[in-house]
Parts: sequence; C-alpha cells; structure tokens
Amino acid sequence: MTQIIRTVADLRLIIRGWKKAGESIGVVPTMGALHEGHLSLARAAKADCPRVITTIFVNPMQFGNPEDLKKYPRSEAADVALLTTVGVDLVFIPQPEEVYPDGFVTTVSVGGVSEPLEGRMRPGHFDGVATVVTKLFGMTEADRGYFGQKDWQQLQVVQRLVRDLNLPVTVVGCETIREADGLAMSSRNVRLTSDGRAKAGVLFSAITAGADDIRAGQSDRMAIREAAEKLRAVGFDRVEYIELRDAETLMPSDDPRRPRRMLAAAWLDGVRLIDNIPV
Ligand code: AMP
Repeated sequence: MTQIIRTVADLRLIIRGWKKAGESIGVVPTMGALHEGHLSLARAAKADCPRVITTIFVNPMQFGNPEDLKKYPRSEAADVALLTTVGVDLVFIPQPEEVYPDGFVTTVSVGGVSEPLEGRMRPGHFDGVATVVTKLFGMTEADRGYFGQKDWQQLQVVQRLVRDLNLPVTVVGCETIREADGLAMSSRNVRLTSDGRAKAGVLFSAITAGADDIRAGQSDRMAIREAAEKLRAVGFDRVEYIELRDAETLMPSDDPRRPRRMLAAAWLDGVRLIDNIPV
C-alpha cells in the first residue's frame, strides 16, 4: 500500500523501522503533475531498492517567477494513484511551511556547473534545487536518489553537490522519456495549445539533426545556427540557447574526445521547453 505522509516527524517514524530492518531507500524527488517520465524513475528505484519514496513538492525556492509558480500544474490525487500502480511505498507531500519553517536561513549553492545555461537564464534556480534536494535527502535518509536526464544540468548539479558535501547518497541518472514525436515529457507540456503541441517535437528533431551534423564533421557553430533556424521557422517565439557543452562541467567544449551534450531552451506558445542529447 502506498502511504501518504505530510510531515517530517511522521516520515522519520516510518523510516526508522525500514532502516532497522536493513532496508535501503530509493528517493524520487518530483514537483508532481506526474507523467511517464517520473514513473520511469520510480520504476528504476523499485528495481534497485526495497523501499521507495516519491516526494511531491512544488519548491517555491526554485521559481524565480511567481506567475510560473502559481501556474504550475497540481494533481495530487491522480499522482498518488499513478504511484500506487508502480508500487511506491510512500509519497511525501509536505507543505512549504514544513520544508521552510519560520527562521529558515540556509542556502546550498553549487558553483561552477550551476552557473551557465539554466543558471544564467534562471538566477537562483539551482540554489533552490540544491537546497531542497539536500533537505529531501536528509529528511528521507535516502541511499539512492533518482533524477531524469531530461534536466541534464540539474543532474550534474546534484552529482556535484553529493560529491562536494560527502552526502551518503548514490545519484542515478535515468533516460529521458519522450512522446512519439520526440518531445520530452514534461509537466509543463499540458500548457501548450494544440497548435503548439503539434510543433513542439521540432525541438528534439532540430537538436538531433544538429548533433548528427557535428558528428559528421560540420562546424559546431553552423550546426547550432541551423537548429535555431528550424525552431524559428516552425514558430518558436524565442530560442534562449542551443549550446554544445562538456557533459559534466557544462563548460564550452570543442574537445570531441570528451563526452559532450547539446542543450537547448526555447519558448513556444508562452511555454519554456528544454531538452538535451548526447553528441
Ligand atoms: P519535475 O517534477 O519536473 O521536477 O521532475 C522530477 C524528476 O523527474 C526530475 O529528476 C526530472 O529530470 C525527471 N523527469 C522529468 N521529465 C522527465 C522525462 N521526460 N524523462 C525522464 N525523467 C524526467
């Protein structure tokens, strides 16, 4: 049975029993509005760990824009029903006051990897992510944490954080789950109009073609320019960035011997879409 827990005190009681029995804990942090991408993380956790916790918390600290926070889709009952089908043991759904009680003043800030791309476009975002992930790992006593490659830079930030702070958690990065046309599943996709939805798959096809061209010897700059042109041609409002970066540090990289990643963020229909692929 999937239990719903809303306070840290209740969570600790249950976890104490699991730890006493020697059971390891896999944790899947989410902001809810769950889809197949989230469920794939929960399934990966189930395959590795005797106990699995999914957290649902729309973290105000990682939203720069209050409108975006307000408009973020919420669907608790449906989320819990989906997690039950996967066999998740516990869903932790705290209120903001439970996570950030009066007097809370600590921020976890990861340098380097969190600075470019999303960090530049969304100031403070990764401080919010790093702080809440550190807290959630502490609250849940996670042995393993599951994150999607969909948010590639976030995954690198969490890896760095765990290494730098010696957190006793193994971070697992899971493949991006996509719709049939290649669009990476995202809770924000429901905000697209049907016209926008019909065009949204071009983000993936454009960066895929760009990555193929680079592997075939085309210049990085030319491949990126062509990808951006494809997005504009189909009606994307704004291309924030398309960049080829070192897959781990997220710094500019022209060294094809190192793993590299093409990462993109673009606006369609007033919705900000992000995606990334290996090059
Ligand atoms: P979110 O609820 O958007 O904060 O996402 C929670 C976790 O699910 C993060 O680790 C995301 O990277 C991951 N995730 C979101 N969408 C996908 C997807 N399409 N495929 C795989 N993982 C995903």
